[in-house]
Amino acid sequence: MPTLRPLVRPPRPDPDAETSASPSVEGRPPGQPADPQKYLVTVGPSAIDGLGAFAGAPIPARAKIGEIRGEFVSMADARARAKAAERSTGRIFMIAVSDKRAVDATHSTDPLRHANHSCAPNMVLKVQQGRVAFYAIRDIAAGEELTARYGETHHAGRLSCRCGAPQCRGRL
Ligand SMILES: [Zn+2]
Repeated sequence: MPTLRPLVRPPRPDPDAETSASPSVEGRPPGQPADPQKYLVTVGPSAIDGLGAFAGAPIPARAKIGEIRGEFVSMADARARAKAAERSTGRIFMIAVSDKRAVDATHSTDPLRHANHSCAPNMVLKVQQGRVAFYAIRDIAAGEELTARYGETHHAGRLSCRCGAPQCRGRL
């Protein structure tokens, strides 16, 4: 006897879907990468400089904390932008991701964009396939300021480092 019943029932629309307060991962527009933030990071006043990034929860050693996303620019553009920023606001955050390209994260909304430099950091910055990611060097307690060693900067040693670490190199 033939049956007309479908083997798989189509999903019924969820009547609560539109009023649900919880953000849905499926609600993300296609093609947009998932939020690369793995641990809660907050932004607040820093004892080192301006605003800083802080652990919003305990982070275990070696864990990926998150990424900084930004605009891909050529090295020539990166240098030009750094020069222009020096003449005006002085605020720029550019990370070289290869010999040819850099990420301009000056206008990034990712909280780790505010991570300050420290000569005794608790994070390490890793560039992986053009992405800028931060990993915990050691166990980090909730509330600790998150810092990384940025190495060579466009300041070329003209800025004083105020990280406060006993082994501070003194200049950025
Ligand atoms: Zn220092």
